[in-house]
Amino acid sequence: MSALSSIGRFAPSPTGPLHFGSLVSALASYLDIRQRGGRWLVRIEDIDPPREVPGASETILRQLDAHGLHWDGNVLYQSERLPSYLEALEQLKQKDLIYYCQCNRPRMQRLGGIYDSQCRYLQLAAKDNAIRLNVGDIVSAETGIGGATENQTGAAHLSFTDQIMGHYQQCLRAEVGDFVLRRRDGLFSYQLAVVVDDQYQGITHITRGSDLLDSTPRQIYLQQCLGYSQLEYAHLPVAINLNGQKLSKQNHAAALVPGNEAHNLFTALVWLQQEPPAALAKQSITEILDWGIKHWFLAKIPGTLGIAAPQEF
Ligand code: GLU
Repeated sequence: MSALSSIGRFAPSPTGPLHFGSLVSALASYLDIRQRGGRWLVRIEDIDPPREVPGASETILRQLDAHGLHWDGNVLYQSERLPSYLEALEQLKQKDLIYYCQCNRPRMQRLGGIYDSQCRYLQLAAKDNAIRLNVGDIVSAETGIGGATENQTGAAHLSFTDQIMGHYQQCLRAEVGDFVLRRRDGLFSYQLAVVVDDQYQGITHITRGSDLLDSTPRQIYLQQCLGYSQLEYAHLPVAINLNGQKLSKQNHAAALVPGNEAHNLFTALVWLQQEPPAALAKQSITEILDWGIKHWFLAKIPGTLGIAAPQEF
């Protein structure tokens, strides 16, 4: 495979069947990468067993298949990738970028989710503790104190240009703090697993929902710490329900009904403002996808975080 070939992916967590919102992400990443002549991979992000629903992976794969969203190669399951996550942690440890943390959930809640690095210099043992990534210090403008432990890559401000949302900037130190790579219960974090696997699978283009936009600077920072290359990002508006919430399993979003695949694809194209001709609504899934690949145009997608889902979903 040429180093220049594009590779995209759809990376669902098996927490329930596909709904309209997740279909939109799958379809958009599929059309985008197929238009580039690239490969489209599917990765099941099954590293959080308490959140998983038995049978959901199989249901998702069946739904993708029924919509004609055929992936290349084998499906990658994150549950089979744990040794690689450990290896990445070891690499970060060698660089002195991680530490063990004993802070519990109530303390994190009191901090409002932004960790204050309390455990950073306590040299705690690994047992029963979480692992956090050191994102560096905030230097006080007044005293200049606090910058002494700057790590190699520095994390003051991370910015990137999203192909849909435009310029995005985040100060990791002030807006996120040192973040968890492995939880106290031993589970690896989404942030670590996603970065290690995007690199492992050679992903070049990520198209996913805007709910993950604010995770992207953490992922770019981890890529830098691990010596990986940066990817192209396109964050889509998420489909929201009447209460303004993202369609999700937790919000009881309706699973896609079998038999409506062509209609679902056509509705998703309309929702993504790709302006398919009305006559396409009567065509087969193959014809709808072929039209979508040919006419896919990122610039038509509004750079807003959320858009109301079609009423029927
Ligand atoms: N597994 C994540 C989810 O279902 C998506 C990961 C990603 O696209 O980076 O929300």
